[in-house]
Amino acid sequence: MTNNTKEMFGELLLDKKIVAALTAMGFEEPSPIQRETIPIVLEGNDLIGQAQTGTGKTAAFGIPIVQNITDHKHIQALIMTPTRELAIQVAEEVGKIGQTRRIKALPVYGGQPIDRQIKALRSGVQIVIGTPGRLLDHIRRATIKLDTIRFLVMDEADEMLDMGFVEDMEEIMKNLPADRQTLLFSATMPRPILSLTKKYMKAPKLVAIHKEIVTAPLVDQYYYETKDKVEGLCRLLDVDVSGKIIIFCRTKKGVDELVIALGTRGYLAEGLHGDLSQNQRDRVMKKFRAGRADVLIATDVAARGLDIENISHVINFDIPQDPESYVHRIGRTGRAGNKGVALTFITPREFRQLKLIEKAINIKIVRRQLPTEANVLERQREMIVSKLQSVLEQNNYSDYLSIVNTLSKDYGNEEIAAAALKLMQEGNKAMESPAAEAAPADFANTGAREGMVRMFINIGRTQKITVKDIIQSLAIEADIPGKDIGSINIYDKFTFVEVPEAVAEKVLAVMHRNTIKGYKVSVEPARARD
Ligand code: AMP
Repeated sequence: MTNNTKEMFGELLLDKKIVAALTAMGFEEPSPIQRETIPIVLEGNDLIGQAQTGTGKTAAFGIPIVQNITDHKHIQALIMTPTRELAIQVAEEVGKIGQTRRIKALPVYGGQPIDRQIKALRSGVQIVIGTPGRLLDHIRRATIKLDTIRFLVMDEADEMLDMGFVEDMEEIMKNLPADRQTLLFSATMPRPILSLTKKYMKAPKLVAIHKEIVTAPLVDQYYYETKDKVEGLCRLLDVDVSGKIIIFCRTKKGVDELVIALGTRGYLAEGLHGDLSQNQRDRVMKKFRAGRADVLIATDVAARGLDIENISHVINFDIPQDPESYVHRIGRTGRAGNKGVALTFITPREFRQLKLIEKAINIKIVRRQLPTEANVLERQREMIVSKLQSVLEQNNYSDYLSIVNTLSKDYGNEEIAAAALKLMQEGNKAMESPAAEAAPADFANTGAREGMVRMFINIGRTQKITVKDIIQSLAIEADIPGKDIGSINIYDKFTFVEVPEAVAEKVLAVMHRNTIKGYKVSVEPARARD
């Protein structure tokens, strides 16, 4: 749906180069705050926006500013942020938006040597992002000159107020050219911020995106706060969550990355986003409906119009950009009188956005702790117990009794049972001494079948690779018979193939940097499960 991205961002009359940059960033369509903000800024208005992290607010001001920056190498936009972390994040995002136009964005913040910043400023940057204190420092030294500035952004103005920056902000605003545009973003509007807007902004337009909406009552809603969302998601999938699961990511790129991250950990994940052809979409959906994929990972755009029954869990791997989208996503579960569960991951910075959603939908989203490693082990134990119980109940294991009888001459029955379990769980690895066990760590526990190693190959359907191509290459190049090769999962841009542990080194040695169907490939063991 590259074309669609063009249409949707194109509708906002954006420069083709910027649309190309947004496509490369994996954005499929403007978020609500962007849809409202971009035209207002492009028309030359001042703007006050009530938006939190997670809504796409950075791009909401970044896109129109980049569009309006000229090719001159002087500073044309100043962005104030409360913290250095935010300055760096904003500089990265704005830099990406401006990449195709070769627009440079530089973060400046306290704690970094000022000389280095002065040098970077001299090299010609058009957008400077910083904390008010450090910006003022540069302004006083005349290493940032204000006379060419046409845009001022105050990001998270209320936070800047809380951090005691209000005088610095005012000092900067006083000295800026009068014909600039001023954009202010703030979650709340305390009096000192309001008075700044009155004094220094010209007939600002207001953009606030929250309306009261109604949610599906049959959906239990929880959230998890973590810095490592992939690890958190895997623990959930291992312990708490099973059924038909849809996971939502913000961008196409995010979908691709999560498909790889889960795939390398041994989960069968299928991705769905706007770049797929109708055929590819149909294939993914068929697999998912038939239960041949553990999870479906999608963007909002791709999931629109999908009709899938019996979704047990909606997981927001990335928090939705607005309450409507949250309701839309979670409405995919809890249908037809079935109970559904919606789980949302947030990073610590996204807490406010979560609270805003909660307020808009008027339902408490309950905080939950992620399963611990001990929970994961416990769950594995339970699975073993339950498998054993069903074998015992079947009562048709007499073929194996003679083995137990032979062994019981030398070992106790409990010992025999425990050893058998170890063999069942670990396969041939159970027979190795602990020292030897530690050796092939690279190949450990990647979710492959016992005795097999899962390999990652960086080509896939896009290169028209088929299962036959993989088998043939391994047979011809690495001399591995087709029957020894385990499962092969071909995705758009990569492939996973399981090979016997005994030949894993050889496959790596022979296949890495070799060619398959004329494509030079990189082959590596799929990353081990932590
Ligand atoms: P922000 O609210 O600016 O902190 O943005 C939150 C995240 O959303 C960032 O990772 C952005 O790159 C991403 N983002 C911003 N706009 C869009 C969009 N239109 N589509 C998808 N992701 C977006």
